[in-house]
Amino acid sequence: MYSCLEHIEEAMDRYLDEYGKLPILVEVELSHSCDYCKQEAVYKIIEGMMIEDEEDF
Ligand SMILES: [Zn+2]
Repeated sequence: MYSCLEHIEEAMDRYLDEYGKLPILVEVELSHSCDYCKQEAVYKIIEGMMIEDEEDF
């Protein structure tokens, strides 16, 4: 799942809803388009583990 800055919260909410898992954001290296608006994506959302601290966001 890819997202631009504008849609990142929406994308993370959806990820949590659909998978019930904490999403992790990774910066996109290759050019990719946002799943919501087709602008250039900034983050890729991948599956994370259930961790308690999220200081690295
Ligand atoms: Zn977007």
